[in-house]
Order: sequence, then C-alpha cells, then structure tokens
Amino acid sequence: MKKKKSIFIGSKVVWLLLIAFVIAGGAVFLYLFTTPFITMNGASSVEVTTKEGYEEPGAKVSYFFHDISEHVQIDSNVNDKKVGTYTVTYSVDYLGKTAQETRKVSVVDREPPQLTLNEGTEITIRPGSSFQDPGAVAIDDSDGDVTDRIAAKGFVDVYNKGTYEIEYTVADSYGNEATATRTVTVKGKPLREEQGVIYLTFDDGPSNTVTPEILDILEKNKVPATFFVIGYDHDPAKIELMKRALQDGCTIGIHGQSHDYSKIYKSVPAFMDNVTTLRDDLKEDLDYEAFVVRFPGGSSNTISEQYCKGIMTDLVRQVQKEGYMYSDWNVDSTDASANRVPAKTLIKSVKKGCRKDTFNVILMHDSDAKKTTAKALPEIIKWAKKEGYVFKAMTVDSPTVHHPVNN
Ligand code: ZN
Repeated sequence: MKKKKSIFIGSKVVWLLLIAFVIAGGAVFLYLFTTPFITMNGASSVEVTTKEGYEEPGAKVSYFFHDISEHVQIDSNVNDKKVGTYTVTYSVDYLGKTAQETRKVSVVDREPPQLTLNEGTEITIRPGSSFQDPGAVAIDDSDGDVTDRIAAKGFVDVYNKGTYEIEYTVADSYGNEATATRTVTVKGKPLREEQGVIYLTFDDGPSNTVTPEILDILEKNKVPATFFVIGYDHDPAKIELMKRALQDGCTIGIHGQSHDYSKIYKSVPAFMDNVTTLRDDLKEDLDYEAFVVRFPGGSSNTISEQYCKGIMTDLVRQVQKEGYMYSDWNVDSTDASANRVPAKTLIKSVKKGCRKDTFNVILMHDSDAKKTTAKALPEIIKWAKKEGYVFKAMTVDSPTVHHPVNN
C-alpha cells in the first residue's frame, strides 16, 4: 500500500511539473509569437480638402486583450493647408514588442480662389468719361495671392450709352476656377461732348498729289484737320507734307503701315505690329507721338471676319490697352464709295450728315485717287463756317466716335 501511495504522490508531482511546464511554455510561446495589435480609427487611406482640413482620428492598440492605446506613438507630417500626400505612422513599443501601422493622407484643393471686384460689381459712368477698370483681387487657400492671374474680358464703349459686362476669371494651380462679372452702365448726359464742332479726317494718305492740294485749302481757310496716314516708306516728300500739316495745326493719326485687310486682320499681334511700325516711323521722321488709331474699314467692319473671327472685339480693347484712342466717324462724305465721286455728291453727303447738337467726325480720303475730295473741300468749309461750325483737329482730349463692333 505504502509503495502504491508513493507512486501516487510521485505521479502527482510529475503532473504538476508537466502542467507548470505547459503553462510556462505557453507563456513563452505567446510572448514570442504575439505582438501588440494596432487598429487605426478610420480608413487607412483618407482624402481631405484644404478647406475642411485634417483631424487626427488616432488608433487603438491591444495586447493580450488588454487596451494599451495610451502607448501608441503618432508620427505625422500632414500639412492640411498644402496639397500633397502625407503619411501618418502609428507605432507602439510595449514590453520590448513593437508594431507599426501607416495611414495615407491626401490633401486636395477643391476651393476656387476668392475673387473680389474692387469698387463693386456695378459701375455707372457718363458717356465720354474715361473708364479705368478698378480691377479685382484674388486670394486662394493654397496658392495665396493670385491677383496677377486674373484675366478680364469685355469692353466698355465709353462713347456709346449702354450696359457692358466685364468678366473676370482666375484659377488656382489645381484648376479650381472662379469668375465674376462687373456691369458698367454708360448713361446720362455726355461729358466732353462738343456741339457744332467738325473734325475733318483724311484717311489713306499722304498722297504726293492730293494731300498738297488739301493742305493748301486748309491753310487758306485756317482750318485744321486730322490725317490718318498709312505707311509712307520714309518718302521725303511725304514726310515734308506731314511736317507741313503739323505746322498748320493739324494732327496725325495711325491708319496702319499696311491697309491690306488679309494681313492686318490676321491676328491681334499682326494688327498691333502694323500700328507700332507706323507709330515708330512717325516718331523717327517727325518726332511726333501718334495717339489715335483709325481701323481700316472702321471698327464696325465685317471684312475682318474672313481673316480672324472676333478680332475686332479684341482689337478695340487692345488698342486702348496700349494707350491709343480710336476714332471712327459719324459723317461719311461717301468719297470711298467709288473713285471720283462727284464733288457735288460729297458736299451733299456732308451737309446732310453734320449736326449742330453734337460733334461731327467727317470721313474723307486723301489718297491719289481722291481728287474730287479736294475739289469738294472748299465748298464744305465755306458752308460749315456759314452755319457756325467750328473746326478742330483731334487731340487726346477730343471725343471719339465708336461704331458698334460686328466681329
Ligand atoms: Zn482706309
């Protein structure tokens, strides 16, 4: 019995040792093969906008069913004001055991810049007053001040009553675009309008045959005029004619180096080049600063459409942007309708077209073929003086006629 008992006691110890061994072994096993477990709050890849920003959602960590979240270390380089892709790293180091998880954070910009028009969206001016676009300011949440990227489109014809729109557009680097529209109303009593004034204007010269005749008539009658000249290739005789015109109190405008519609209305740069080339020649040969442009065919011409659609809309804006005035006419002598239109017809057209209650810009030509224009001129001046009209040459302060733009 005693033996049996000792065997029984002995086997009990063995069992206990075995159990202890299994428990210890299990603990070692668990320690060796388990790690803390990180659970990120929220998705492992998130997208936020610069406007809403990024708020760190954190992570939970457990180890042996035990919450050790307070041991999590968060490493983040997220700049939610700056577009980009960032990484947030969650790591834990607990009882010599480590674990790591990462979250991808994409910061995107979906906000257009804040576009503010200076001086409000509605402006009212009187006809003939100068309109200076007060501009706009644009601030973007990621790009900062983007005012210099604002593009303005539209045109205010200060000489014609009406409502005009200027559209401003600006985009940030991520293609978010903002637009704003300003309404400019031209209404009321015109400023600078001169009643009973005649501006005689001669296009397409100088001509070595017709221009001297016209200058003689103007001089004799002590009447000034404005000559919208074309390219003269530094011809000394033509330079002398223009010098004489200036000495007589006339002014010179730019019709353009070339009059060839297919060339000048091909593009905005082509047209402006045609203007500046002639301006530079006048500066060089006469020390004269030309300030006014007359579009060949007038600003209302539709011929230009054959060479560039919409070009007149851009040009009326561009010439003024580059500091020029432009002037069409409101009285047509009709001398362009054919060569050698009878002087009588020209006189009749001018008489019919002139009005005492406003200023009159008379279209005439002094190219070689316009001999009847010179023939009609003395009678036109005589009649106008008798009617009480006053003749002036165009200056920077003169009112100008602007035709409606058709292309
Ligand atoms: Zn012309």
